[in-house]
Amino acid sequence: MVPPFGEAHNHNVEPSSRIGRTIERYLRDGVFYVKNPNNLPTARRVLAGRVNTPTSIDVAFANGGLTGAGGHPILIVQRNIERGAWTEDDGEGAFYVPVDREADLPRAMAGVLDGRPDFLKTYLLYSEEYAQRKDDPAFSGWKGLDPALLPEIVRRAHEAGLRVSAHVETAADFHNALVAGVDEIAHIPGFRGDSNVQLPDPAVFEISEDDARLAARLGTSVVTTVGGVRGLDPAGPDSLLRRRFDRLHARNLRLLHEHGVRLALGSDDYDDTSAGEAMYLRGLGVFDDLELLGLWAVATPRAIFPGRAVGCLEEGCEASFLVLRGNPLSDFEHVRDIVLRVKQGVILSAVPAPPRARSRDVERRPHPPRDRLHRDRGR
Ligand SMILES: [Zn+2]
Repeated sequence: MVPPFGEAHNHNVEPSSRIGRTIERYLRDGVFYVKNPNNLPTARRVLAGRVNTPTSIDVAFANGGLTGAGGHPILIVQRNIERGAWTEDDGEGAFYVPVDREADLPRAMAGVLDGRPDFLKTYLLYSEEYAQRKDDPAFSGWKGLDPALLPEIVRRAHEAGLRVSAHVETAADFHNALVAGVDEIAHIPGFRGDSNVQLPDPAVFEISEDDARLAARLGTSVVTTVGGVRGLDPAGPDSLLRRRFDRLHARNLRLLHEHGVRLALGSDDYDDTSAGEAMYLRGLGVFDDLELLGLWAVATPRAIFPGRAVGCLEEGCEASFLVLRGNPLSDFEHVRDIVLRVKQGVILSAVPAPPRARSRDVERRPHPPRDRLHRDRGR
């Protein structure tokens, strides 16, 4: 029996025709807690009754994020407008709020706070080149906030009782987010390489030892989002590019882990839950299975809902848990073999039954089921 899993970075809980299937997949995978770090401000209203109920997933929404003019996620908006899914109204002031001068900050923040987000999302992209990229349309979508503004944004957010999450691309962004005092860094630097999804110079993305130490001291939470490289590389897991990504991610994660930085599992994969991220992380070999399970079932739910008694099974915790067919510490694959899901005291019976266990699993099962015990008795 384990606490339900968390997904600390995914945008797929949003108003769309796929939402029913998306929720079902989360429940099937045992992922009950989801953090959406940038969504249309209308999402919570449109999804009312479908999420944040005892029989569905619980979701924390950021609504629109603060970024620089022409910055990420503007390309996502443009794409959605081009394919007719969104209108101009969904862009500036809704899905993202641009702010480049401190004088504009009060109005920009008031607009975001009006939508009553659960936390505030901010964007740093190559912030070491902020001045150079700021007015250059060639960097459309590949820039973000002036890092000099971020400390004041954090101050105002904290004053309003909101935690702050920062998107990062580079190790310099990671540093700037840390010293600005954000509560969460939403990616590991280099999670998607450069703008061509390449890694010509991995050093740009290597977190420094000082920053790992600082992140631990400040208690900053860092969300993984590294498993996306599985889909990026058509040449497969043995290709040179994939090996370079794996090496970079293992290096950064090992450094953070060794310094005791708080980590949370997030996939940022629209077509998945954090289950794929967990499996990718396992393949990197940075964490042992107990550590990985703890990240997924304990640390991540708590990172998503810091005020709730989730990620635990003791007296006083929310009555939410998964029953696995076998011990995940003897075979980690058992995390995918969920036989019972209980959320806040409610048995989730509408979730499709998992496929029947393979015979190999049955043999490994440490505790035979009741009927077999009875049959075996007297032998
Ligand atoms: Zn994201």
